[in-house]
Amino acid sequence: MQEYDIVIGLEVHAELKTDSKVFCTCKNQFGSSPNTNCCPVCVGLPGALPVLNKKAVELVIKAGLTMDCEINNLAVFERKNYFYPDLAKAYQISQLVRPICIGGHINLKNKSVRLNRIHLEEDAGKLIHSTQAIGTLIDYNRGGVPLMELVTEPDISSADEAVEFLTKLRARLIFADVAECKMEQGGMRCDVNISVKPKGSKIFGQRTEMKNLNSFKSVYRAIKYEANRQIEILSNGGKITQETRKWDDNHEKSISMRKKETSQDYRYFPDPDLLAVEISKEEVDKIKKTLPLMPEELKQKYIKDYSLTEYDADVITKDKEIINYFEETIKFYNNPKIVANWLLTDILSKIKDEENAEIKITPKNLAKILTLLEEGKISRTVAKDIFAKVWEENADIDELAKQLGGNVDENSLKDIISSIVKNNPKAVEDYKTSDTPDKVFRWFVGQVMKETKGKANAIIAEKIIKEFLN
Ligand code: ADP
Ligand code: MG
Ligand code: ZN
Repeated sequence: MQEYDIVIGLEVHAELKTDSKVFCTCKNQFGSSPNTNCCPVCVGLPGALPVLNKKAVELVIKAGLTMDCEINNLAVFERKNYFYPDLAKAYQISQLVRPICIGGHINLKNKSVRLNRIHLEEDAGKLIHSTQAIGTLIDYNRGGVPLMELVTEPDISSADEAVEFLTKLRARLIFADVAECKMEQGGMRCDVNISVKPKGSKIFGQRTEMKNLNSFKSVYRAIKYEANRQIEILSNGGKITQETRKWDDNHEKSISMRKKETSQDYRYFPDPDLLAVEISKEEVDKIKKTLPLMPEELKQKYIKDYSLTEYDADVITKDKEIINYFEETIKFYNNPKIVANWLLTDILSKIKDEENAEIKITPKNLAKILTLLEEGKISRTVAKDIFAKVWEENADIDELAKQLGGNVDENSLKDIISSIVKNNPKAVEDYKTSDTPDKVFRWFVGQVMKETKGKANAIIAEKIIKEFLN
C-alpha cells in the first residue's frame, strides 16, 4: 500500500494586548456589551481616518524578536478587499508585501519550523447567530482590535507537531506580554493548511485550508481527519480540490465551504490613508532590551544553574504562572532544587486536574515553611502538615510551628531509642547478621519517627541509633 507524508502550514492569529484598538482610540476589551467600544473609524463610516497605534507595532516587533525574525525597516499597510457583514468597510487593513517581521523559526523537539512572516492587521466584528432574535446580530466591538498573523512555512508533518508548535508559540506570546492568547475567547485562532504526498516525494500535493480553529484539540482532530480524507481520495485515484473547508468539531469532520481565493482576488493595494512605517534599528534594539527570557531559555538556565532535572525544568517552564511562582519562591528561599521538589510533588500534583486551578499558598509562605524545616525547627512530617493547613484554611504558619514543631531534644531521643532497642532484640540481632543491615536500620528510624510523631530530627536520630546498635 502507498504510504503518504503529511505537509502542514499554519496561519495563526493572536489578538494583541493593547489598551486601545489598532487604528482608533476605542477600547480593546473583551466582554463589553455589544457595540459599545465603537467609533466611526472602527465601524468603517466613509471618510473616517485611521491613526496607527504605535503599541501594536511594537508588540509585533517584540513577538518577532522572540522567534528570531528579521524586522523590516519599512512596513506598509494594505487594503484587503472583500465583503462580509462583520467587515463594515468592505476591506480589512492588513499587510502583504512589506510585513513587520520576515522569516524566523521556532524549534521543536525534532525539528525547526521556519516562519514565513508576521504581520499586523485589524480584527473583524463578530456575527451572533442568536436563537432569540430573527436573523443575525452584529457586534462591532472586536472590529479594529489589533491582530498579529503569523504564517509558517509548510514544515510541520503531523498533528502532534502542530500542537507542539502552537504550544511553544503561545507560551512565547504570553511570556513576552504580547498577547494573552485566551483561546476560549477567540484570542488565538489558527488556520490549518494541509496536503499529503507519496512518502518521500519532493512534490507537494494540492492543499486544503481549515479556518479559525480555536482550540489545540480541534487543531489536532482536524489534522487527523483531513489527512485521512485526502489520503483516502488519492488512494482511490481521486484528486484533491484546493478549497477552504470548515471544521465541525461537534461532528468531527470537515465540510467544503468555498473554492480557495488567491491574493489577487483581494485586490490588495497600499492604504492611502496610512503612511508606511519606518522601523529603525535603534527602536528594535530598545524593544529587544524589554524581552524577558523565554521559557526554553529559562529551562536551560534551570538545568545548568540550578541543577534541576530536565523533567522538572520542563514542567515548571510550561506555564507563566508556575514560572513566576517558582522565581518568586526562590527569592525568599534560595534552594531551587528543594523548591522545585515541593512545587512538583506537593503543589502541581494537587492542581493538575483542576481547571483554573489556583495555588493556595503564597511563595512567601512556602518559603517560610521550607526555612523552618531547614533550620530544624520543624520536621518534614510537620512541614507537610503545616503546608496542608495553610492550603486548606490559610492557617498561620508561626502559630502552627509553635504548636506542632519543636524537635524532640537529644536526651529524650536517647531514651526513646534506648527503649526501642531494648524491646526489639530480634531486630537488633537481625541488624548484626543480615545481608541487608541498611533495611533493618531504616526500620529502626521508622520506629523512632512513629514514636515521636515525626518530630525527631532524622539526622540526630540516625546518629543515636547507630551508637546503640554498634
Ligand atoms: P494563502 O495566503 O493563500 O493562504 P500562503 O502562500 O500564504 O497562501 O500559504 C498559507 C499557508 O499554507 C502557509 O502556512 C504555507 O506554509 C502553507 N502551504 C503552502 N503550500 C502548502 C501545501 N502544499 N501543503 C500544505 N501547506 C501548504
Ligand atoms: Mg490562508
Ligand atoms: Zn473605534
